[in-house]
Amino acid sequence: MVKAVVGANWGDEGKGKITDMMAENADIIVRFQGGANAGHTIVNKYGKFALHTLPSGVFYDHTTSVIGNGVALNIPVLAAEIESIVTKDVPTPKILISDRAQMVMPYHILFDQYEEERLGGRSFGSTKSGIAPFYSDKYAKIGFQVNELFDEVALKEKLVRVCETKNILLEHLYHKPLLNPDELFDELMKWKEMVAPYVCDVSTYLWNALKEGKDILLEGQLGTLKDPDHGIYPMVTSSSTLAGYGAVGAGVPPYEIKQVVTVSKAYSSAVGAGAFVSEIFGEEADELRRRGGDGGEYGATTGRPRRMGWYDCVASKYGCRLQGTTDVAFTVLDVLGYLDEIPVCVGYEIDGEVTTEFPTTGKLEKAKPVLEVLPGWKSDIRGIKKYEDLPENCRKYVEFIEEQIGFPITMVSNGPGRDDIIFREKK
Ligand code: GDP
Repeated sequence: MVKAVVGANWGDEGKGKITDMMAENADIIVRFQGGANAGHTIVNKYGKFALHTLPSGVFYDHTTSVIGNGVALNIPVLAAEIESIVTKDVPTPKILISDRAQMVMPYHILFDQYEEERLGGRSFGSTKSGIAPFYSDKYAKIGFQVNELFDEVALKEKLVRVCETKNILLEHLYHKPLLNPDELFDELMKWKEMVAPYVCDVSTYLWNALKEGKDILLEGQLGTLKDPDHGIYPMVTSSSTLAGYGAVGAGVPPYEIKQVVTVSKAYSSAVGAGAFVSEIFGEEADELRRRGGDGGEYGATTGRPRRMGWYDCVASKYGCRLQGTTDVAFTVLDVLGYLDEIPVCVGYEIDGEVTTEFPTTGKLEKAKPVLEVLPGWKSDIRGIKKYEDLPENCRKYVEFIEEQIGFPITMVSNGPGRDDIIFREKK
């Protein structure tokens, strides 16, 4: 069967840790969307790792890690990532790359930079990893799939054609150096060497694995609110972050996805621009940022300080609903142990009316948070293994949020490690 681990919010909810934990009982872990723009942080016996392209299952020797067709594949980043884990004594991982995955080309990264430069203050806060130009080309049907590396004649011809179009923009819009198809071809031949050992017909592989009763874990990046359709458009990412898209981006039947674990952090953080209703500022935000996650709330890829906020029940209820949540994993709860009182956003006030339904972007920008303040528990809950052993106010916090969002919190994460997890029965 297939299970998915996805985010309810803006990303950085702690999906990497939950995937790493669930990978213990999985055979195959698949990345199905996104690129090297976001990252997961994982802490385990080998050390601390920031993964951008490899699935979080690479640390187990019983799992196969798959890069699905829906991913924006950055081959040099992938090669460096494989290198970085192998040199830290992690057993050489079994990796498969879909022959239908498309490649982030060197010029996608350039175009991302040039466009941000051109937009200046009106930019989207891109990580400049080439993701938006990549997906634009994919849907404009001028992208390159991995399998194309293996037909050199056709590849050369297509490169000449694509460079012609790109060079018009480079010359007249961006006033930047032009692309040379021969140089690109040489670069791609190096990439071919890097990926050749891993290339695979992934949907057939997964189909057969399902027939053999294997367990597959789909690992999402970012969260619902960054989905291009259901998120805070246009401050979104370029590929769907929803579990449903896992069927497409991995190539598995949608009806095989039996469990959707939606990860939601006990407070909010976001990167990049866009409305963030429960955002906090000043010393209050700085303290939460410093204490947050495992070593502070700073981007895994960019090191940028994250924007901080209180837990947002409106956004999370919506985020869980769009994912088709069967289970909520509620993470980083231990971090809140320093607070006397914990505000929670339970509604949005928009033009004088209060709603608990997440609105479209224009309205969202006008929304003011309706806060309810819960008592803190003023203690360190790390190391606690049973739900009943959590302080009463801590349990009340979990149960209050569960009630507000309307989806069962079956896992509570109280530390960054694989074993820092408390399971709860569904009511
Ligand atoms: P992802 O992209 O959703 O995986 O999120 P991040 O990589 O930003 O992970 C969040 C950070 O929180 C990482 O540094 C994790 O090690 C850490 N983390 C995950 N779960 C917990 C938790 O329950 N408690 C604490 N203190 N840190 C956690």
